[in-house]
Amino acid sequence: MTTDVDYDIIIIGAGAVGLAVARALAVRGETSVLIIEKEMGFGQGTSSRNSEVIHSGIYYPVGSLKAKYCLAGRDRLYDFCRENDVWNSKCGKLVVAQTGQESQLEALHRQAETNGVPELYMMDRSEIAAVEPEVSAESAMFVGCTGIVSAHELMSAYHRISAEADHDLLLKASVVGAELKGELYALHVKGPGDADYAVTTRWVVNAAGLHSDRIAQFLWGSDDSSRPVLRYSKGTYFKLSGKWRHRVERLVYPIPDAEHDSLGIHLSFDQAGDVKLGPDAAWIDDRSEDYTVNVEDGDIFYSEAKQYLPSLERDDLSPDYSGIRPKLAAETMKGNFDFYIKHEPDYPGWINLVGIDSPGLTASLALGEKVAEWVVV
Ligand SMILES: Cc1cc2nc3c(=O)[nH]c(=O)nc-3n(C[C@H](O)[C@H](O)[C@H](O)COP(=O)(O)OP(=O)(O)OC[C@H]3O[C@@H](n4cnc5c(N)ncnc54)[C@H](O)[C@@H]3O)c2cc1C
Repeated sequence: MTTDVDYDIIIIGAGAVGLAVARALAVRGETSVLIIEKEMGFGQGTSSRNSEVIHSGIYYPVGSLKAKYCLAGRDRLYDFCRENDVWNSKCGKLVVAQTGQESQLEALHRQAETNGVPELYMMDRSEIAAVEPEVSAESAMFVGCTGIVSAHELMSAYHRISAEADHDLLLKASVVGAELKGELYALHVKGPGDADYAVTTRWVVNAAGLHSDRIAQFLWGSDDSSRPVLRYSKGTYFKLSGKWRHRVERLVYPIPDAEHDSLGIHLSFDQAGDVKLGPDAAWIDDRSEDYTVNVEDGDIFYSEAKQYLPSLERDDLSPDYSGIRPKLAAETMKGNFDFYIKHEPDYPGWINLVGIDSPGLTASLALGEKVAEWVVV
């Protein structure tokens, strides 16, 4: 085996997933690890632009990677948070159905049971009113194992464990090319500043989020339509005024929006108790990373949320932030929006994580452990 190599493992991208891979490698005793991140700090991409929900796993088709890693990751994540002092709350959630949506809620309940999700409880209108007086719905499914987590604290914990294992984190540096040279990969890197150089490694973990398909194309080009390609779906949030703090104790979700593969405009809150509505879902076909929040979209958020929050007023909403979901493009993946996670058989030592949209935060610990299992140094 060649010994003249800079690192055993390079991880491209320091989001929740890249950092979780680093954490799992650290736990296994791997020390020759470099994480390359194009931003000024870790976790500045999709991992800090999401709902911070620990998902239960009710939505995903049986046998999908989303179901597998969400279910595997969820309870492990609660344990990890407890052991590492990461803020979280197992607050539970209500999926609410209005008149005429009951059959969709029942179908979701069956899916949840088939997926083996525990702590499910169906409620009628009066039971909902008894536990959440602000929420109005014909019926609801309570999911007790759903919760929220501080994404920032979670990533800080992953990073701390990685740093304690002497891993290097290179910031303000973009991977701009890659080539296989014998048994090694040479990654071409630009930054920080004008620096332009190559780093060699035995293993590459591509956890580059919104850019992960283009990083993979460094190997196989852009002409092969059988390879995964991303399509962006923007999700925007509106925050509610302070009078809504602690008025609702559980997350509240409508029936999912199948057309956009989104969970619908839901109500969630964060560590500080601030309440927000969203995200919506809008395809961005030019792949621009435009995080602008359109003030006028507040009207739609208001009318959607008003259906389950009758005392909501339009003035309660103000623009908050947005995130972009990296979804596997329907054209190439036949409408399958699952994760793509593979140790590429044509490229030994190269692992791709592409299309890691929701529930990627929930699944991060489990994804990191799976990738670490594949890596043999
Ligand atoms: C609106 C929205 C709501 C969501 N809600 C939830 C939720 O409630 N619960 C949940 O479990 N999941 C949720 N998700 C999904 C979750 O946020 C993601 O699955 C997860 O954050 C993905 O992490 P990542 O590390 O793969 O990607 P990212 O966080 O995007 O990290 C990738 C990193 O790679 C870096 N990078 C990219 N290209 C290069 C390059 N060439 N060189 C160097 N670095 C590079 C980027 O700068 C970035 O930091 C949501 C997502 C969105 C958009």
